[in-house]
Amino acid sequence: MADEKDPRFVPIKVEDGFVIMPDRWKVDFLASMGELSRFFIEMKENARLMGMKCPRCGSVYCWPRSWCHDCYVDTEWVEMSGKGKVTVFGQVEVSLNDIKKDVPFIQGGVHLEGARYVLVSCIREIAFEDLYTGMPVRAEFLPPEERTGRIRDFYFVPDE
Ligand SMILES: [Zn+2]
Repeated sequence: MADEKDPRFVPIKVEDGFVIMPDRWKVDFLASMGELSRFFIEMKENARLMGMKCPRCGSVYCWPRSWCHDCYVDTEWVEMSGKGKVTVFGQVEVSLNDIKKDVPFIQGGVHLEGARYVLVSCIREIAFEDLYTGMPVRAEFLPPEERTGRIRDFYFVPDE
């Protein structure tokens, strides 16, 4: 028997000549983090941010990359200081899934010390109006019992 609330059983609509088809996706899946698994394990178990360094050119990737995209050689794990500077930021007003409850929140790109690219995460403990590009920040971690091994185990806070 069809679920009356399931959008897949609602008749189509036609607006301006286009069919609008209600639908629903619910997909449970397992995603392997593969060679980048240590990044998530270190966050959860040791409250550490890890990057990966190219042994040839010295580039440090955090987000980690298992190979250098300039030299095409395997990279090696290095611990990041967790300190960096804000390069870009915005206030998230609408979100999905498990972070919907947290809106509004500030998200920003942080150029970590020694890293080649920015790492995006939430920025807390500061008002949006007081944040600026170039602001020094540092990574903070949730208490051990709240860490799940996911990217939201850490966030940035002002470091000045
Ligand atoms: Zn390299």
